[in-house]
Amino acid sequence: MPTVTNRMKAHDATPIAAIGRLHILLVGLLAPGCISPTDVDTSTTSSEVSVSAYTSSGCSTAVVVGLSKQIADEIGCMSPSSLQQFSPTANLVFSSNAVLPYLGAPAKTALLKVGATSSLQINSAFRTVAQQYLLYRWYQQGRCGITAAATPGRSNHQSGRALDVSNYSSRITVMGNQGWAHDVPGDPVHFDHLASPDIRGMDVKAFQRLWNRNNPADKISEDGSYGPQTEARLKQAPATGFTTGAVCGSQRAIGADVVSINGPDRIAAGGHATYSITVDNTGTTDWADTTRLVVMGGAASQLYDSTSWTSPTEVGPIRTAIAAGDKGVIDVEISAPMVTEETAAQTQFALSDGTTQFGTINLAVTITPNGDEDISNEGDDTHDDAPEVSGGCNASGNGSWLVMLAPALVMLRRRRRAS
Ligand SMILES: [Zn+2]
Repeated sequence: MPTVTNRMKAHDATPIAAIGRLHILLVGLLAPGCISPTDVDTSTTSSEVSVSAYTSSGCSTAVVVGLSKQIADEIGCMSPSSLQQFSPTANLVFSSNAVLPYLGAPAKTALLKVGATSSLQINSAFRTVAQQYLLYRWYQQGRCGITAAATPGRSNHQSGRALDVSNYSSRITVMGNQGWAHDVPGDPVHFDHLASPDIRGMDVKAFQRLWNRNNPADKISEDGSYGPQTEARLKQAPATGFTTGAVCGSQRAIGADVVSINGPDRIAAGGHATYSITVDNTGTTDWADTTRLVVMGGAASQLYDSTSWTSPTEVGPIRTAIAAGDKGVIDVEISAPMVTEETAAQTQFALSDGTTQFGTINLAVTITPNGDEDISNEGDDTHDDAPEVSGGCNASGNGSWLVMLAPALVMLRRRRRAS
């Protein structure tokens, strides 16, 4: 049965070796993410867990999805067309909970057109400076199998127009018909929608605005440039998000945000896994302990676990009350179906009391036929290793770094391709 606790796991208890092959994901999709400044989190659960707590543990950036969603939503407040959320569908399947489903408006439109006719297994879309900070630190430590990573601020996936698709080989034409370029040598999963603006730097500026809003006594420059001042604050920032998130809209009466997901990104066919999902009740309605997690659409979930779920279409009650303004942890056990090839599987749940739907939660995982030791999907994205000094979003601060880094990364890429 699902269990809920009012604590937050600061560190994934899974052994590092196991985590290395997993990429967790869970992306919570709820009402549009801009919250009111009066929407105060009164819980003591997770706000103390800083981004830096994850620099040497875990391998999935799903642990900072809460902060990352705030950053993405803040960009949407700053410039609504620059970044927009999209939802998983029967055709648009996320391969892990670390997928942050946001793109610039033209890229999103182009993606939805592809998704109208073709299935896509999405490994990565938008990525924030918080996610890239962790990936870069893991890369520096030789962790998580990451052989190359762009410095924070410089990843292509911070552009709002990049997408990694694991079933790319059969989708190059249909993607190309909608303007998705597939032209990065050595990085077959990667597509760029070049007609969409490159918004790199906006995520850094959004973080700076969020930091200043929540730390009025420690304000930093809102220049969109990732330097030592910003990095120091990023390390201290709460992984699951600030007390006050993005500001641009009216307060929602009903709302739920997934702020983190702890669990594997990849599991073996026939295997079993537990995901601890920290959910923020951002609305003004308390959730009783009888609030249920129900599969949306009424069809049986691929991830149905017969030992813990009420039925193939319902996990069951969350078993702990989560008051308005509070966060709580919902544990969901899943069983992986048998598969003959690597398969992305997801299930979208509604959080409901039977009358009112408080929000939705998307759980996503990649099922492997034989439990391979593959690393996180994000680590597969070798395109990130190409340092690009041009572009103007983040030229200050990191230039010398990039010059030093470039030769080393070229070597790494060669070695990777040779292997
Ligand atoms: Zn990519």
